[in-house]
Amino acid sequence: MSPEIEHLISLQRTDREIQRLKAEIAELPRRVAAIEEKLAGTKAVLEKAKAAVKGDEAARRKYETAINDLRGKISKYRDQSLEVKTNEQYKALLHEIQFAEQEIGSNEDKILELMVNAESREKEVKAAEAELKAETAEIEKEKTIAREQTAKDEKELAEWNAKRNAARAAVDADLLQHYERVSKFRGSGLAEVRDQKCTGCSVVLRPQTYNEVRGGKLIYCDSCQRILYFDPSKEAPAEQRVEKAGRKRAHPKIDASLAWYYRGEYGEQGEVFLSYVNSNGAAARRIYDAATGRKIGDTLIREGNYRQAFPEDLNDSIRLNGHWSDAEQDEWEQELPSNVLDTLQRDLDLARAEAASHHAKEAVSAPSSVAS
Ligand SMILES: [Zn+2]
Repeated sequence: MSPEIEHLISLQRTDREIQRLKAEIAELPRRVAAIEEKLAGTKAVLEKAKAAVKGDEAARRKYETAINDLRGKISKYRDQSLEVKTNEQYKALLHEIQFAEQEIGSNEDKILELMVNAESREKEVKAAEAELKAETAEIEKEKTIAREQTAKDEKELAEWNAKRNAARAAVDADLLQHYERVSKFRGSGLAEVRDQKCTGCSVVLRPQTYNEVRGGKLIYCDSCQRILYFDPSKEAPAEQRVEKAGRKRAHPKIDASLAWYYRGEYGEQGEVFLSYVNSNGAAARRIYDAATGRKIGDTLIREGNYRQAFPEDLNDSIRLNGHWSDAEQDEWEQELPSNVLDTLQRDLDLARAEAASHHAKEAVSAPSSVAS
């Protein structure tokens, strides 16, 4: 990788870290504001509960005053009744007294109602006060955390800014200008190329561009304008991958009680996978179409182990890896599950690649005189 690219990669890393820190610093006051808003809500609830208590108290005083006034009236009517001349006047006063007594009764009922209400009002006030206290403590805690976190972030930010300046100084001025312009619009100015694609915009590179990037040339993505780079440590060439995987291929044990084979031609069936299971002195054989995984015919059981029982099957076959039990295979019924089919096909590819490289090595190392 060219030093320019390495500088840009470290610049990108500092840019990302700076973005993250700035976002975090901006987020903290927002968190505090959200709690403060909740706190204001609880305060309003408390104020309302307190106002209701006050309202009730005022109403009670009003009813008490009314009762006193009515009692005054009654005593006045009683005094007057001693002095009346006619029966009619006496009846009228008596009626007034009755009416005032009724009024006193209804005022007393209202006072009683308020006294009953007062208990739940008191509870509401206490609950709101407790909540307010808890929220106030919480907000103090949050504010402390926010202050500490912000101070820490700001210190880190200063450090990253210094690193960023150092990284910028190391990059060529024109390249830096391009990087920063693209960063501003797209959030990043540099993109790795992987599987022949720009990882910034996912567009596939033209083969020539791809080769140039792999060769270390500084190129901008045609589609997103990001500066492209290739990291060979993240992408092994295809041929190497196969070889590596081929070396890793597990080799089936010759005396295994479960065995899988591939045959390129099996009677009229063409390509098949053959499964053998030895158990209790007998061998079970299942045959599957190698392309579709469909089972061909019924499971066949013969005496002896499978090598003794089905010797004719094993000519021109390729031994594969596979460890599915008899019971599991019974459950598949008429078709291989797709993951099993994939596994077998992949193992077949690996076995073929392995055989090919083996032949190639033999051809190189064995002198032609061996044939004669
Ligand atoms: Zn791109």
